[in-house]
Order: sequence, then structure tokens, then C-alpha cells
Amino acid sequence: MKAARLYGIRDLRVEEVADPVPGPGEALIQIRSCGVCPSDVRGYLGTRSGSGPSGLPRTPGHEWAGVVVALGAPVPDEGLPPIRVGDRVVADWRWVCGTCYQCRRGVFNYCENLRRGVRGGFAEYGVAPLSQLRVLPDHVSFEEAAFCEPLACILNAHSATDIGLGEDVVIVGAGPIGLLHLQVARNRGARVIVSDPISTRLAKARELGAHETIDASAVDPVARVKELTEGRGADAVIIAVGAVEAIRQGLAMGAINGRINIFAGTYPPAELPLDPNLIHYRQLRVTGSHDFTPHHFTTALRLIQFGIVRVAPLISHRFPLDEVREAFETTASRRGLKSMVVLGG
Ligand SMILES: [Zn+2]
Ligand SMILES: [Zn+2]
Repeated sequence: MKAARLYGIRDLRVEEVADPVPGPGEALIQIRSCGVCPSDVRGYLGTRSGSGPSGLPRTPGHEWAGVVVALGAPVPDEGLPPIRVGDRVVADWRWVCGTCYQCRRGVFNYCENLRRGVRGGFAEYGVAPLSQLRVLPDHVSFEEAAFCEPLACILNAHSATDIGLGEDVVIVGAGPIGLLHLQVARNRGARVIVSDPISTRLAKARELGAHETIDASAVDPVARVKELTEGRGADAVIIAVGAVEAIRQGLAMGAINGRINIFAGTYPPAELPLDPNLIHYRQLRVTGSHDFTPHHFTTALRLIQFGIVRVAPLISHRFPLDEVREAFETTASRRGLKSMVVLGG
């Protein structure tokens, strides 16, 4: 089969490799869509910690969906979902053990025995353990299903961030991630304000339900948020951009009793000068969130299935597998929104 293989910084090639073979309890899946994630691009650009030459070449891509074409030998586990050849499925790459210290306290996203059983991604075929598959409802497309992973990360952040009906919520950054946060915050009953310096992204935010948008290239977003909230600031701020200036702004926007979620990693690593009194005297609650749990993944598929969150409008570019490098470059340059690699018809 053909697969993309990362050899080093900006060195991503499409090559012929051996077809993967499903082991016991696994499925072979013809991949139909794989989304380009900012974390894939960090590996490609060499900006992610631990993205050194070890483990190269490798096939990136963890946001994928496709059709089951073969099953490995059955394993004696009553709990596995009844996956059949021909099923349309999406794969949850985070294969957690369920029994370690973190899993037993419900913090599945920090499973100490996390396994990488889900393979494939930017390739014609992938292999995944049956436990990691969810069957797609008929009307959910492969492309839409590929958003389950990023949307699951967003739901994890919202579990950590209280939002009340009618509260003022600011989303800093209107990339694909910010636009998913916007929709989840709207569904939680918030008045949503989106800030970004790119006008086409703000237009998309309005299309997807933002009550207000702020052009961060033209005005001071902190001052504008204060204006829009009678001087109080935002009850919740979700910082969907990994940049010190965005985090500084997000903290400065918080109202008394505000909740601030730092959603994105910052690369390269940086330090943030911070007045601790800002947090103390305004009684801010600052949270982080990272990855997701199996339940968030299941919930993400339900939100897509029932149209509660619209993901198709976030796809700005589609590429065949042969042009995967262009897909990565497009995401790296922040042109458009989500780049999707589409395969197999
Ligand atoms: Zn991702
Ligand atoms: Zn575990």
C-alpha cells in the first residue's frame, strides 16, 4: 500500500510499504479520511519536544476514519464491540488500560500504560484494536468522523471549565480548534465572543454562531472584551492558541470569579511574566486540559451525529494522499482551516 512516512524535518514522503496485517482482536481498515492535526505538524516541523530522530521513519496521522476490510483472529473478550467487515468506523488512538492508578481515578487521558495500537493515518490502510473503534451512523461522513479526536479534546477542556447559562465566554483563536470551542460554548448557553487576527476566520466564527467577533489585528482584544461586558471581563476564557501573548490576553480578560482554560501547548516552550495578584484578587480559576478520555471520544461522535456541533464547515482544503506534504504545509502556514487527506474514492 501507499503510506506517508516522516523521515525528518519537513521530509515527508509517500512510499510503497508492506500492507499492515491485523493481529488477534484487531481490524484492518481502508482509510478514507485523515485530518491534519497541529500536533502532526509540530512533528513535521520538528518543534515538538521529543520529536527527535528516534522512531523515524514513521507514518503520522491519528484523526482517521474508514471501512473495515478484514478482521484478525478473534480474542476471548466479551467486552469488545461487534465490528464486522464493511462497517464504517472511526478509530480512537488513545488505547487506555483501565486499571492503572490514573485510569482507576478516572483520569484516563493520563493512563500510565497508554498503548499505540491504532496505526495508519496518512496511509491507504490502518490497523486498530476493535476496542478502539466506533461504528459510524450512516449519515456521518468519514470526513466528519475524523473530527472526533479534536472535538474530544475540546470536550475534555469543557469538563474543566464551568460555563453558566448566559455567561460571557471568550474564545481566543478562531482556527479549527477555536471554532469547535465556540460551538460547544454556545451549546452550553453562553454568549460567545471570538477573537482572532484573521478576518476570514472571524467570518467563519460568525457563520457558526459567534455573538461577537474581535479583530485582534485592529483593536486591543482585552479592551474590546471589557467594552462588550460593561467593564467586567469574561466569565470564562478559552485560549485556543499556543502563544504567550494570547495567554496574557486571556488572563487579562477574565472577570472576577472567571475561569481561564489554557487549551493549547506553547511551542517553542516559553515563559510568561505574570502578576500573581491578577489571579488572587480577581479569584480566577486557571485550568489546563490535555487530550481526552474514551467517553469524550464517544460524546464527540454523538455531537457530530446529531448536528449539535457542525464540523464539515471547518474543512478548507482536501488533498489526495500523494499531496500529503502540501496538506502539512497548508496547516503549518495557517492558510485556511482544517486540511483533510481523502483516500479511496
Ligand atoms: Zn489531533
Ligand atoms: Zn491506564
